[in-house]
Amino acid sequence: MTAPSMTTPDPARFSLNTATVRAQWTLAQIIDGCTRHGIRMISPWRDQVAKDGLKATAVRVRDAELVLSGYCRGGMFPAPDASGRAAAADDNRRAVDEALALGARCLVLVVGGLPKRGDGTPASKDLAGARAMVRDGIAELLDYARPAGMPLAIEPLHPMYAADRACVNTMAHANALCDELGDGLGIAVDVYHVWWDPDLRQEIARAGRARSANGKSRLLAFHLSDWLVPTRDMLVDRGMMGDGVIDLPLIRSWMEDAGYRGAHEVEIFSAGNWWKRDPDEVLATCKTRHAAMC
Ligand code: ZN
Repeated sequence: MTAPSMTTPDPARFSLNTATVRAQWTLAQIIDGCTRHGIRMISPWRDQVAKDGLKATAVRVRDAELVLSGYCRGGMFPAPDASGRAAAADDNRRAVDEALALGARCLVLVVGGLPKRGDGTPASKDLAGARAMVRDGIAELLDYARPAGMPLAIEPLHPMYAADRACVNTMAHANALCDELGDGLGIAVDVYHVWWDPDLRQEIARAGRARSANGKSRLLAFHLSDWLVPTRDMLVDRGMMGDGVIDLPLIRSWMEDAGYRGAHEVEIFSAGNWWKRDPDEVLATCKTRHAAMC
């Protein structure tokens, strides 16, 4: 037997982002499915945990001996007024508490876009102002999360989401926030959001070089799916690995060159395809494609 090649993904690193089968199964059913399919890591969403109950979920996770590669998600910091920002801060502290209760390795942050009115419409065109609110919101949350030992992972989102979901859109911006705000903050690298970036390789390397005081890398998570051509929906038309145009082994090699040894989290929002299929088939396909295509 020889050691696994750096060009072959390690099946033990496979993690299921539970959004991948959220249309078909409850979180309890997903956890049972992971046991059946030999999946050892998951990354669940707050609404799924709320539906099944935090305590009950923590027990199920422990009984199934699952590791949480992440917890989705905190963020959404910008708001039109101080009370809205305070409400977001409260909710983010609860997200940290939940991540701790579940033993997650990090809390993923989707930082929010332009401030929204109560009806969800944009309250401002001030993108720089929104980015300042994000910076201040993360700084405040770090004061809570850092002493509790819960790393925060900024997930830069594709720029098509800058208005409504996340106004941190590049690895360079996420790295700059980490440089400024320091320990306890890192990055979730989602190939769907960053594959197009001409500076991706150097920014992954930069994140890998940056070490916190305790020697931990800032690369906290790695999310996998594929970019379909054409993409028919901005949010829920992600591809299964191998069905699109992202050079997944290349980006994985950059992550490994930067020292990343964490989970490979498969996260596929797919209203028109994978959310309509038998979830057992979806999990089996995720594992096969991870082994063959990543
Ligand atoms: Zn992601």
